[in-house]
Amino acid sequence: MNKKTKGVCLFLLCFALFASGCGTTASATVPTSSLETETTTTPTAPPTETAPSGEQDVNIIYDAPLAYVLDYPTFENPAINAEVEQFIAQRKEAFASTYTTTHPKKSTLTQKDCTSFLYISYESYVLDDSLLSVALFETQEDTLTNTSVENTFTLHFLAETGERVLETDLIQDGFYQKVSNYCIKYFTTTEPYKTRIYGDYATTLTPDSGVFDTFSLTNDGVVLYFEPYVLFPKSVGRVSITIPYEELLGTLSFLEQEPVTEPEEETEAPSTTLQQPEIRQLDPNKPMVALTFDDGPNVTHTNRILDALEENNAVATFFDLGRLAEAYPEVVQRELALGCEVGSHSYSHKNFDTLSAKAIAEDFAQTATAFERAIGIVPTLFRPPYGNANDFVKSQVPMALVTWSVDTLDWKSKNPTAIMDIVKNEGSLDGKVILMHGIYETSAEATEILVPYLLENGYQLVTISELLHYKHDATPEAGKLYGYYYFR
Ligand code: ZN
Repeated sequence: MNKKTKGVCLFLLCFALFASGCGTTASATVPTSSLETETTTTPTAPPTETAPSGEQDVNIIYDAPLAYVLDYPTFENPAINAEVEQFIAQRKEAFASTYTTTHPKKSTLTQKDCTSFLYISYESYVLDDSLLSVALFETQEDTLTNTSVENTFTLHFLAETGERVLETDLIQDGFYQKVSNYCIKYFTTTEPYKTRIYGDYATTLTPDSGVFDTFSLTNDGVVLYFEPYVLFPKSVGRVSITIPYEELLGTLSFLEQEPVTEPEEETEAPSTTLQQPEIRQLDPNKPMVALTFDDGPNVTHTNRILDALEENNAVATFFDLGRLAEAYPEVVQRELALGCEVGSHSYSHKNFDTLSAKAIAEDFAQTATAFERAIGIVPTLFRPPYGNANDFVKSQVPMALVTWSVDTLDWKSKNPTAIMDIVKNEGSLDGKVILMHGIYETSAEATEILVPYLLENGYQLVTISELLHYKHDATPEAGKLYGYYYFR
């Protein structure tokens, strides 16, 4: 994949915490997935993304009472660098003209004398190797008035020549109308946005309102950015949304000239090939239950869950994210080694109900490569993020879709007792699938209680494939949903 992103670096976050006592304003982009309610997908460690297309170059300047923390990319093309630097200089100037520049009356000034902070971070994307988009996320923070202002700017360049391309040159008639329609529909039907969007959103999202003038072009689609208070309360943070190109056909001039070609997925042969565990000999006449853990792997908490399973000679099914399998392959390898089943939970936890056929295919290709590299095999089971799989998604998914029949709400309660209470109040668990998440300490703690509890109560802990085999005499079929009613 040649989509390249660069998130807010940890260093910048640490600096923000230290400098102002408030780190939240610097965590610029709020991925839409991390806000959704089934679970939070923000990993404890910073996400390992593909390498940035620009070299990182953080400048920290103290000019008390002003301070600048500027993280912007440097590219091979000097023409692009000059444009980016010029833009950054303009933002510095605008910032300096807004806040007080009276120097404190001290001989030596340090960062502690700074009261106004300008943070800039970025993401950059290359579309089809030819168009480069740089999104610059700015936060202006003033500790004297306790205010912060956020802005997003995007710059576009032809990758080959470095020539700047304006947004207005990228779009054609109908773009704003289509984008407006899409955003209104998406934000009013998708959690958590639909319950938090301001009442006057229709006015904010009219085609000519100006909120759609800032966007990036990625291989996945057009990314739009919404600052706090524009559509949602500040607590929702800065929101970005990716609109698939299929939704915007005929309104993007760049795509008409340079159609996006399918990126070739190269699959390296892994050095060791691990086998998916075979169906074990179990007693089909005795009760069986399948534990499932989503959203991992997580080095700390998944390993603690695996410790609990190993101690009790039990197994579970892990629906891992391709992105995290890439980052922590040794954890996924251990899942397999202990006889657990590894399923896919997509590459990065997008809501599949909002994806195009092409986007779904790309997600599966990227996820397959991730698992192939991590464990040498591609999972055959898919748990759709948020459990969302409409008929279109089912028709596009090349794996069996597996949801659950007992939801422990572990992501919500973060309380082992509450998790245990839900399981205990479920009645017979025979043939059921229990949903948990492998990324919380409290879920790992609950697993340490739950696994012996289930064994003491006569249940055999099985994988999803084993459950299908023994309780339903079924082999997972691609495109078929095995869900709540199947596992009752
Ligand atoms: Zn999930």
